[in-house]
Amino acid sequence: MDGGIADWIARRAERRPHATAVVDVATGARHDYAALDRRVSARAAALAGLGVGAGTRVALLGENSAAYLEWLFGAARIGAVAVPVNHRLAPAEVAHVLRDSGATVLVGSVAFEALAKGALDELDTPPVLVALGAEPGDGTVAAHPAAGDDPCVIMYTSGTTGVPKGAVLTHDNMLWNAINMVTAGAGVSGTDVTIAAAPLFHIGALGLSALPLLYAGGTVVVVPSFDPAAFADLMAAEGVTTQFLVPAMWAALTRLPSLPPMPALRWAISGGAPCPVTVIEHFTGLGWTFTEGFGMTELSPAALFLDAADVLTHAGSVGRPFLHVDARLVSSTGEDVAVGEVGELVLRGPTVFAGYWNRPEATAEVMRDGWFHSGDLGVRDAEGFVTLVDRKKDMIITGGENVYPVEVEQVLHRHPAIADVAVVGIGDAQWGETVLAVVVASDDIDPDEVIAFARERIAHFKAPRRVEVVGELPRNATGKLLKRVLREQFAGQAEAVRR
Ligand code: ATP
Repeated sequence: MDGGIADWIARRAERRPHATAVVDVATGARHDYAALDRRVSARAAALAGLGVGAGTRVALLGENSAAYLEWLFGAARIGAVAVPVNHRLAPAEVAHVLRDSGATVLVGSVAFEALAKGALDELDTPPVLVALGAEPGDGTVAAHPAAGDDPCVIMYTSGTTGVPKGAVLTHDNMLWNAINMVTAGAGVSGTDVTIAAAPLFHIGALGLSALPLLYAGGTVVVVPSFDPAAFADLMAAEGVTTQFLVPAMWAALTRLPSLPPMPALRWAISGGAPCPVTVIEHFTGLGWTFTEGFGMTELSPAALFLDAADVLTHAGSVGRPFLHVDARLVSSTGEDVAVGEVGELVLRGPTVFAGYWNRPEATAEVMRDGWFHSGDLGVRDAEGFVTLVDRKKDMIITGGENVYPVEVEQVLHRHPAIADVAVVGIGDAQWGETVLAVVVASDDIDPDEVIAFARERIAHFKAPRRVEVVGELPRNATGKLLKRVLREQFAGQAEAVRR
């Protein structure tokens, strides 16, 4: 459908101008749809004044704020393409994103001015730097009605498995993702309130929190950073009804002494990485409807979710596809695997991205026979519920046996002295690979006892042969484990424990 995402705001402004659209916790501003629409137009006018037009890339570098969303929609209003940049990157990495995307404007917040300037210094033809937080004024500009298949955002994948690539998401991708959210089980509607707490430069917060709520006419509360206690209080104070967070954030909430009552909360969802079952149990134990979904940048991102109605009977599953997503589990030769057998999750539908920016070979690698190959392995039960087992790249082959690290991590999460854990495969002359558990201890810990604990609960070949204790696990900005870093760190090191 033509018009693009900025049209959503214009249409809402006509129909429900005084409904609250965005609440900015840092500034205290509360913008209704009419105000948001005016501010989006002013951002669009400012960009047009810098020569930005249809197809131009506009990079965004800043903490979550109302202004961040205004610039994103402002770019869309004139057919430009927003490029959200991870503000935890080093200057050279930000420079890579700017160079790769060919952004001509960088809209950056004061908090990341040094990072922005450091990145610009690395470039021969740096983009123009614009202050993200400046008040928008009252400029207007003629809208460019984006076509459905025009690029809307280029999202650099977080790079947990390699060099970041720009996933091109079109206006239709974002629209169908919003429709999938609205039509899902308990869904989202114009009366919903959510907090965009994960970073907006990641598709989770943008595609699950901000955009579907604004499409539906609901309210998005924006916080610049995540503090668990302040977040819990904010959920209660703003009357949050639906909430997405990544597992590391939900896990942080479980460690609070208590949570305020949240009578308005309809459902909460975890996604973006495997959620420890202990975390799911914690929230269901509080009486919450706590569910899990599977998404990916390349899928805009919502792909599968566990309907609130199925939470109690299918805990641990990521459920079934959203309404407009087709999903299959296939063997390495592309045939559907039988119920209960492990296969790669492949997906099709209007939320599948348009490809990697300027990387036709990388796109062809994942888009085969019209299906997007996720690189994630899962099993399906007779009713079609999918349970993810792990990423293909993370699977460990030890002594000829396949070990899915997530299964081992789920077991170790139950150990009373383990606060956090990552399981990876390390090259081993005898076994091919050996299972290494890297743990953060919350108490005195004995690696031998951890191994024994695992062996009591899972097959010996799955249990770690080696346990390393560290102060902190390497995670990316969205709390995802950087297993690549651990593999590099521990490969070839003297073994602490070897069985
Ligand atoms: P890169 O593509 O560079 O490796 P990334 O994988 O972190 O970066 P994202 O799009 O942020 O990129 O994450 C998608 C991945 O997150 C999925 O492929 C899957 O492995 C994982 N994931 C998402 N949701 C879940 C979930 N509910 N359970 C387990 N894993 C999940």
